[in-house]
Amino acid sequence: MKRQRIAEILRSAAVDTEVTVQGWVRTKRGNKNVSFIALNDGSCVANIQVVVDPTKIPEERLKPVTTGACIRVEGRLVKSMGSGQGVEVQADSIEIYGTADPESYPLQKKGHSLEFLRDIAYLRPRTNTFGAVLRIRHAMAYAIHEYFNRNGFYYFHTPLITASDCEGAGAMFTVTTLDLNNVPKTAEGKVDYAQDFFGKPCNLTVSGQLEGELGALALGRIYTFGPTFRAENSNTPRHLSEFWMIEPEMAFYELEDDMELAEDFLKSLIRYALEHCAEDLEFLNKMWDPGLLERLRFVVENDFKRLDYTEGIEILKASGRKFEFPCDWGCDLQSEHERYLVEEHFKRPVILINYPKEIKAFYMKQNDDGRTVRAMDVLFPKIGEIIGGSEREADYGKLSARVRELGMNERELWWYLDTRRWGSAPHSGFGLGFERLLLFVTGMTNIRDVIPFPRYPKNAEF
Ligand code: ATP
Ligand code: MN
Repeated sequence: MKRQRIAEILRSAAVDTEVTVQGWVRTKRGNKNVSFIALNDGSCVANIQVVVDPTKIPEERLKPVTTGACIRVEGRLVKSMGSGQGVEVQADSIEIYGTADPESYPLQKKGHSLEFLRDIAYLRPRTNTFGAVLRIRHAMAYAIHEYFNRNGFYYFHTPLITASDCEGAGAMFTVTTLDLNNVPKTAEGKVDYAQDFFGKPCNLTVSGQLEGELGALALGRIYTFGPTFRAENSNTPRHLSEFWMIEPEMAFYELEDDMELAEDFLKSLIRYALEHCAEDLEFLNKMWDPGLLERLRFVVENDFKRLDYTEGIEILKASGRKFEFPCDWGCDLQSEHERYLVEEHFKRPVILINYPKEIKAFYMKQNDDGRTVRAMDVLFPKIGEIIGGSEREADYGKLSARVRELGMNERELWWYLDTRRWGSAPHSGFGLGFERLLLFVTGMTNIRDVIPFPRYPKNAEF
């Protein structure tokens, strides 16, 4: 018999056909005369209802079919007489793959808190909420590849282990095979990295951008999409220690083009979600966030506001608002400032550009004013910064002067600086945090709830 997932069976609603369904029991209820099993196989948020007639399947056989158990049912698809579902399965036989003892299985009732589920993250994909979130996560990953493929970008794989400590994007995790209980030392008493696996200090990447630029300056348009690691001890609802980042990098793009791409990219991803994840979004809208669908539609339909950092600061200062962190020209915006601009002042996403050079990375293109760089951050409602990007400094002299000015190690960056010596080109790019995007698309409020196995300080059990 053809294998069918519950989503397909519900969609086809081909009544009076024989079907086989396999999945996990969400609930079982009933009485002496009939039992109803709600079965879910992860293919959609809806369960299929299995109706069991005790004259066909004895009570004894049904007893171990409890919440969480995994079963296979063969039967007939019929029109449902009950409300809530169009079709249901009249069971002819039930096979039990795996039981779930009600005494110990933690996911008994509905309506567990997200905090509770975070403690049993290894089981939470079995809940409706995480099923919905994880299906949307998949759809967004697919849509990202589809978008770039359609627009002439190549998927470029940058290394996860790097020796460059130059981006300054965040604290890093060391990669070593040295025996930490017996670390080899040099004559000066420093760690002797010459004896380490790579012969030098290495770490997990905080961004694929620098290597991505090498790709863009050869292939034209590339993007990366992979895990990145930051060891900052930031226990916030918007930071993970391991997160996925999408980093397009384009030759011959200036800041304007970068902004246009970022806006079009985000809108088309959200449009994709509205079109392809409607059921899951409706579920999340109903269960967690009644403004979700409206917010998604709003972002797709309205232009993002483009604004200079300097004007942004003036608006914040004129707002009369008491912020936890005061902000003057030159300060790095906190989430509260970003959200004020987006949610209260402009009431739409904002692209903030031309930041002071002191608060941005060394590689950003310097403006003629000598104080700002061609940076752009895309700020979103409920999130704050969702994208950080810039036009890159393409001038060898200016870039190496900035590297020296910041006291960075020019010798370690030689390969990056070389791109500006040979065939340099104007180019731009940005980084989108995949989980920040998912926060926005799913309406979840904690970033730990949009990745199957979140990594954050003191948490790496499963
Ligand atoms: P923030 O100021 O919010 O900490 P950032 O400026 O350090 O972010 P970038 O280095 O610009 O971040 O990284 C690009 C994008 O990656 C950010 O816009 C954000 O979407 C995402 N991002 C950065 N740090 C994290 C993190 N720790 N967890 C999840 N996503 C992150
Ligand atoms: Mn940033």
